[in-house]
Parts: sequence; C-alpha cells; structure tokens
Amino acid sequence: SIPLSFFAGLGGASNAGVLVKGSNYMETLSQTKCVVFDKTGTLTQGVFEVNAVHHNKMDQKKLLEYAALAESASSHPISRSIQKAYGQEIDRSRVSDIQEISGNGVTALVDGIAVAAGNSKLMDRLGIPWIDCHHAGTIIHMAVDGEYAGHIVISDIEKPHAKEAVKALRAAGIEKLVMLTGDSRKVAEHVAADLGIDEVHAELLPADKVEEVEKLLAKKPQKAKLAFVGDGINDAPVLSRADIGIAMGAMGSDAAIEAADIVLMDDDPLKIAKAIRISKKCIRIVY
Ligand code: ADP
Ligand code: MG
Repeated sequence: SIPLSFFAGLGGASNAGVLVKGSNYMETLSQTKCVVFDKTGTLTQGVFEVNAVHHNKMDQKKLLEYAALAESASSHPISRSIQKAYGQEIDRSRVSDIQEISGNGVTALVDGIAVAAGNSKLMDRLGIPWIDCHHAGTIIHMAVDGEYAGHIVISDIEKPHAKEAVKALRAAGIEKLVMLTGDSRKVAEHVAADLGIDEVHAELLPADKVEEVEKLLAKKPQKAKLAFVGDGINDAPVLSRADIGIAMGAMGSDAAIEAADIVLMDDDPLKIAKAIRISKKCIRIVY
C-alpha cells in the first residue's frame, strides 16, 4: 500500500500547480541530480519578435510575403511570428506542395515558385549558398526560385523566471544543468551563458536530443536521476526516455503532456525546484 504521506506530497505539489502523475515519481524526483532543458518554449517564451528583414534583390515586403505564405501551414512559433509580422490574410490557394522539415524549416510552392524558409542546414540540403550574417538572434534564411533571397532575423526572449529557476535548482541540490536545442549554436550559447547553464548542445534534430540524453544517462551514477523538461511535440521521445519527464502544461503540446510524468500547469520553470523540494520533504516523512 502507498503511505498516506505520499498523497500529502502530491497534494502539496498540485497546490503549487505541479501535476504529478504517480506517487513513484516523487521518489525519483527527490533523487534527481541532473536537469536537462529544451530551450524554446521551456526556458524562453517561444514568442519570437521579427527584428529585421534583410533582402538581396527582392523587395522587403515581397520577401516577408513569401515567408508568410510558405509558413502558412506550420504551427511552429517561428511561423506564428512571421504571420504576425506579415499581418495580412493568407490566400492559401496561392500555396501548394508544403513540406515542413522538423528542426530545419519549410519548403513550398508559392504562385508556382519554389520557396524555402529555414536555417542554414535547410539551405545546405537544397544546395543554396547562404550568407553568414552576424546578428544576435535566430536567422531564417530564404530561397526563392532556387536562389538565395535574403533572411529574416527573429529573437526569442527568456522566460521571466528562467534565471531564478536555475539558481533555485542549484539550491535544491541539482549538480548539472544541460540545455538541448534545435536552434543555432550562437543563440544557444548566449542563452546558456546568461542563465548559468553548465552544458549546451545546439543544432540538434529531435533524434539527436534522445541521443544526448542517452549519453548523459550512461555517464551518471545509477542512483542520481536525470530529469528532462520540454514543451514540444519533438520533445515527447526524450520526455519518455529520461528518468523523469517534465512538460510545460499551458502552452505545451498534447504529445509532450501525454509523454511526461510531471506537468507544470503554468509553464513556470521555477516550479521545477519547488517540485524537487516538495518531493524531498515527502520522502523524508515516509522513511
Ligand atoms: P527547439 O529545439 O529550440 O525547440 P526546433 O527543433 O523546433 O527548436 O527548431 C530548430 C530550428 O529549426 C529553429 O531554430 C529554426 O532555425 C528551424 N525551424 C524549425 N521549424 C521552422 C519553421 N517552421 N520555419 C523556419 N525555421 C524553422
Ligand atoms: Mg521547444
């Protein structure tokens, strides 16, 4: 039978907006020594601001229009920000052959012309030479009709409690903090340094994130548990693979919430340390 104090612990957690799917996770959580984060939507808001549209030969407005049309079927936060910056109705009859390449970007036919919008890896795949621009932010490169057409600079902002969350985790006994992201190395390193994260791996595809977590699991002592915190559809496999999977509940994808053991109802990363403290108190009462 499950000791009564486990339920007390779960009650305390749910009052704090932390949903624990089973009492066994309290014990694992109390033994967590390493916390691995996804970046976008977990430590950052995943609400991108379009900062600038840089173009080669094309009219700036036209470039943004191509981007918005090519991105019109995507639900990625980057797509949503481009739609917002474009600010006009999308005539979907102008777009066909849309393909979203996970962790890379999108390709589509717009008015019958081939358009690609995404990171440098997407340009490499398409054999389009891209220009390395030194902007602080995520760069969305654009190719139109087989030629490099310019880029859109967008930036994501850290969640208000992200820095505090990192400090609180150290205070709660976490020894290692890792960030995994599909975003560029430059952006990832900037965020990690600002937040005080120990280790960062960037430009990862969803399968690479699972691989990184498996490496971390293989390296650590058996008794020290690893938690992964994420929000996206892409994160579901890693959430299942970690000793403890923690999902963002408010803006997070259904797949992430489904795969997780613990759900943070308000997407506040500060709640991770709170949950760990509650779990430790709860375990002390039981034993
Ligand atoms: P994260 O791991 O930070 O949650 P993703 O794996 O969702 O990020 O995306 C990684 C990168 O792939 C983005 O930073 C962007 O460069 C590119 N990308 C993904 N989806 C899109 C899209 N719809 N449009 C343009 N670029 C995209
Ligand atoms: Mg994410």
